[in-house]
Amino acid sequence: MKLISTLLGLGLSLLPMLLPGAENERPLARFGIVSDVHYAAYQSPQKHPNYRASLQKMREFVKNMNQEKVDFVVELGDYVGRGGPSREMVLEWLTTVEAEYGRFQGPRYHVLGNHDMAPLDKETYLRQVENTGIPYGHSYYYFYFGGIQFIVLDTDYRRDGTSYGDGRPWKETFIPAKQLSWLKRTLASHSGKSIIFMHQPLYDEGADGNVENSREVRKVLEESGKVLAVINGHYHEGVGKRINGIYYYNMRSMLNSPAENSYALMEVLPDYSIRIRGFGKIRSCVLSPDGGSQEKSADSRK
Ligand SMILES: [Zn+2]
Repeated sequence: MKLISTLLGLGLSLLPMLLPGAENERPLARFGIVSDVHYAAYQSPQKHPNYRASLQKMREFVKNMNQEKVDFVVELGDYVGRGGPSREMVLEWLTTVEAEYGRFQGPRYHVLGNHDMAPLDKETYLRQVENTGIPYGHSYYYFYFGGIQFIVLDTDYRRDGTSYGDGRPWKETFIPAKQLSWLKRTLASHSGKSIIFMHQPLYDEGADGNVENSREVRKVLEESGKVLAVINGHYHEGVGKRINGIYYYNMRSMLNSPAENSYALMEVLPDYSIRIRGFGKIRSCVLSPDGGSQEKSADSRK
């Protein structure tokens, strides 16, 4: 949805230009990103969406990220299926896709998506996946690379603060007060810049699946003065926007094109630009701190 606004919404120019000097600067951090993998082994390869094909696409992503020797990889949620015939089957899918993702030779991280909670609960899900160096049971957490603080948020909550995963639907999406105070404290504890990973977006008030207290969350991010970008999934076509100096970049789903992959290698440069090298359906671009973002090229498979 909202594909048209993808690049223009981010303020990206369609000119194939580069930011001066950006190509030759050694990045502070380099990481691989994939979103909305939706792996499930129950659909014929001829049909679309082809959940089964995500396994091969994940393999390609991991192979490339190993070759690129990135610092870490993140999957942005909706890692498995669209619900399933049974809890056992979804657990099997989760084990299968996690084994593939686990071939990455470095730290790997997960963000909880709404579909990950059908029919699993957070405790069960977190037991099956590795978030490198993060103690078991944390659905929101942070880690550091290259002096940058990376914060993973958990948007799988309803207005009353209850978690998804109890068999009830996800009609509401909220970040509860407890997590917001944790976010404030976490941002305050770091003197450098931060990047946020989350599943549901924060930039599209009123749209289905947008975090309903997004203004409140954005205020926390803005007041910290530290957040370079929020990187999320959920909207499969990938959209985005820049609001009050912060980029809200929505990764396109790996599932969405039957024959083509979608993933990215992101690099944080010393001037805090974020260089996005897109693979498959993801367009390459540079998000610069002053908002002068530019598309790098139409195809970036180099
Ligand atoms: Zn989702």
